[in-house]
Amino acid sequence: MLNFEFNNPTKILFGKGQIAKLSAEIPAGAKVMLLYGGGSIKTNGIYDQVKTALQGFQVTEFGGIPANPEYAVLMQALARIKAENIDFLLAVGGGSVIDGVKFLSSAALYDGDTPWDILAKSIRTFKGMPFGTVLTLPATGSEMNSGSVISRAETGEKLAMGGPGLFPVFSILDPEVVRSIPQRQLANGITDAYSHVLEQYLTYPAGALLQDRFAESILQTLIEVAPRIMKDPSDYEAASNFMWSCTMALNGLIQKGVPTDWAVHAMGHELTAMYGIDHARTLAIITPGHFRFNFDRKKAKLAQYAERVWGVVEGSEEKKALAAIEKTEEFFQSMGIATRLSAYTADFEGTAEKIADRFTARNWTKLGEHKDLGPEQVKQIVAMNY
Ligand code: NAP
Ligand code: FE
Repeated sequence: MLNFEFNNPTKILFGKGQIAKLSAEIPAGAKVMLLYGGGSIKTNGIYDQVKTALQGFQVTEFGGIPANPEYAVLMQALARIKAENIDFLLAVGGGSVIDGVKFLSSAALYDGDTPWDILAKSIRTFKGMPFGTVLTLPATGSEMNSGSVISRAETGEKLAMGGPGLFPVFSILDPEVVRSIPQRQLANGITDAYSHVLEQYLTYPAGALLQDRFAESILQTLIEVAPRIMKDPSDYEAASNFMWSCTMALNGLIQKGVPTDWAVHAMGHELTAMYGIDHARTLAIITPGHFRFNFDRKKAKLAQYAERVWGVVEGSEEKKALAAIEKTEEFFQSMGIATRLSAYTADFEGTAEKIADRFTARNWTKLGEHKDLGPEQVKQIVAMNY
């Protein structure tokens, strides 16, 4: 096992009725801004529950944070946070709203030239404005981690940021919110969480036996609940296990003591930036080719994953490893997720070259668990997924 430090300060309130406890988690006298997305919370009852729970607080609102949180929209929120002397942020939404609020938490206390530098220059955030979240969509794990991904339409970029100052103070996880999530987003949530585990598990063996078992148990649970939740999102047992699996997939625990990859996410972000494809779907597109390209180096772990997660016990290591890639792709497809770029855009020729050029411009030459995938390899991997 590799050396590690682990600290996750986010308090989780999990289960039915927990939104009602909101006011006890926010400092008395705080000037609160409630931030949300395109309005789903207004039709599914979550907004009303939050407003009721916030009685007694001074609350202003900022709605309209779009999926793939947009910098220009967030800058409008930032102006209001400053003008209204807000000192506590409350994100009510999925990964996009939570990530947007993380950017605002950082930007509100940032005194450099332009907050875009936090993203463009990878400035880590050690202290942000305190914020909490009410999660409405299990997927990203953003409710219990300190990372964020922000898009900027003006430049066609989608960049990540983070730092120890960006953990939510608390996150409320009520699985009943899953009832109103559309099929497309349910499939996306399962796929994103599944990919998060793969990025931290499907690397090279590092002798982290417990971490492997944690990762495998999350994958197995997602596989088990996927058909149930797709059939009936009001199945509370399935919803609660889906929700907690997504959080556990990216709250830092399973990445401790192991090498991590994250190249699939890096390439996937470019597909969202270029074509607007849903985040999770970009991961489903890149994953099979990435595993095939890095087959020899990931073979041992792929075979372990095939055996333990998919029950493939027959055949050579190579055969099992190949079966693992096929099973993974079939799993994404079973939720209606296409795994080739050409299924999303007819305009895919040249995508690999464009992404490689962007990585060259950013000097991104050390991707993957061996830190040796550069633009040339990225070009080949992306082209394998047309
Ligand atoms: P999302 O973009 O937050 O939400 C997708 C859609 O689902 C929105 O249209 C939203 O509608 C709707 N929705 C949310 N909750 C709902 C509910 N309970 N009922 C009905 N509709 C609901 O999706 P996401 O997958 O959670 O977040 C994706 C973003 O997170 C991407 O930008 C991705 O890059 C990023 N990400 C972050 C991390 C991290 O660790 N920080 C990790 C992976 C991905 P409304 O807008 O109307 O609410
Ligand atoms: Fe993700």
